[in-house]
Amino acid sequence: MARTDAIVLGAGIVGTSIALHLTKRGMSIALIDRAGVGEQTSYGNAGIIEGNTVFPPAFPVELAALLRIAIKRAGEANYHLSFLPQVLPWLMAFRAASSPERLLETARLIRPLYARAVAEHEALMMESGAAHYLRKTGWLKIYRSNRSFKALQSEFDLAVQFGLPLQTLDTAGALALEPALHPVFGHAVFWPQAASVSNPLAVTRAYAARFAALGGVTLAGDARSLHRAGNGWRVETNEGGIDAPEVVVALGPWAGDLLEPLGVKLPLMVKRGYHRHFHAQSDKSDGNAGLSRPVLDAGVGYVITPMEQGIRMTTGVEFAARDAPPTPVQFDRLMPKVRELFPLGVQVEEKTWIGARPCFPDSRPVIGRAPGLGGLWLAIGHAHWGLTLGPATGRLIAEMMTDATPYCDPAPYRAERFDG
Ligand SMILES: Cc1cc2nc3c(=O)[nH]c(=O)nc-3n(C[C@H](O)[C@H](O)[C@H](O)COP(=O)(O)OP(=O)(O)OC[C@H]3O[C@@H](n4cnc5c(N)ncnc54)[C@H](O)[C@@H]3O)c2cc1C
Repeated sequence: MARTDAIVLGAGIVGTSIALHLTKRGMSIALIDRAGVGEQTSYGNAGIIEGNTVFPPAFPVELAALLRIAIKRAGEANYHLSFLPQVLPWLMAFRAASSPERLLETARLIRPLYARAVAEHEALMMESGAAHYLRKTGWLKIYRSNRSFKALQSEFDLAVQFGLPLQTLDTAGALALEPALHPVFGHAVFWPQAASVSNPLAVTRAYAARFAALGGVTLAGDARSLHRAGNGWRVETNEGGIDAPEVVVALGPWAGDLLEPLGVKLPLMVKRGYHRHFHAQSDKSDGNAGLSRPVLDAGVGYVITPMEQGIRMTTGVEFAARDAPPTPVQFDRLMPKVRELFPLGVQVEEKTWIGARPCFPDSRPVIGRAPGLGGLWLAIGHAHWGLTLGPATGRLIAEMMTDATPYCDPAPYRAERFDG
């Protein structure tokens, strides 16, 4: 029976960053996944490292938006009717957390994590030889309606309070940044301090390679085999059982599969999302169209972002059972709008990727001890921004587990906030 100081379950961006941070602090770590490193949710995202996040995505307030979603015309959201009874309590909690007061509270509580996001990635990228994937070219959000743009004033005010630079642009200003866009919008906001990566899978793999170079071990195994063994825990892997006094659960949208049988009940839901890769085509005389940064078509509900594989288009959310068959209907609703904005060519490959954002209703992750289970730690529920927060989470939980002074107060991320 092999022994390590700690086991990390789940080798997405969150688990891999944790494993690397713990190894850097001198602990022997086994990182366990049933699939390849970084191949699940952490593969297919839009690649944005969004340290500027002020308000998290909220429940829609406008009746028109709700109606559009209800009649399945919305680009930004889809749902499976059969899933509604199951998701309703979560949606009600999400709606309650979307009041202006609660959003303001959330913005303040999550700020310390997001404030470290880009710097923590950059530090890991430097030591992992992955800096060439990083683009510090910001994030551009375009707004087709005056109303949706004007509604952003409170976000801008808070961004200023937080010291986050932003530039409001007219059409010409945005086209100066991204000349391939078509002028179908009147307003844009440029967030210069956001960063992005050209290959999220390669970044997670680079962190895993660095972890291995420092002596960490990655093994194939099923996290659901976790059980008590003496004073600690044991997990079965393809190489045999591994024992450790401490275990970190970083299973993203699958965390409940392990935690519920152990008696830990948390309101973790998934917001599914899809991507497809496209070639860019030229519709201007000066060469092929391209993008230098991710672009959000706000109000319509998708992101287009340059990746090594082509232009990746990611959809908004879908409320459906995590393992239900994919229903990528949002592409049909969105494609005409995307092609209005940017000259997308043919799809690079036939495939449509599906992933599931692991979400708590208050849009905060859980980072800390599992209630009532000594030696078990949780790092789950990073929702829309798990790529962003992976390394910042890794550092925070590693500091907590090694009794170092954490770089921020971890109290807002405790699982106990859902008690009662
Ligand atoms: C369409 C879309 C766009 C997104 N865009 C962005 C973005 O631009 N920026 C951003 O910051 N975030 C984005 N996100 C969110 C981000 O991708 C996720 O929050 C993040 O990847 C979650 O990482 P994770 O490590 O928690 O989960 P995962 O990457 O899913 O890792 C969990 C791991 O656990 C493993 N696992 C599960 N069950 C078991 C088991 N029983 N035994 C062993 N292993 C198991 C899985 O194989 C997996 O490797 C996006 C998400 C989607 C869907």
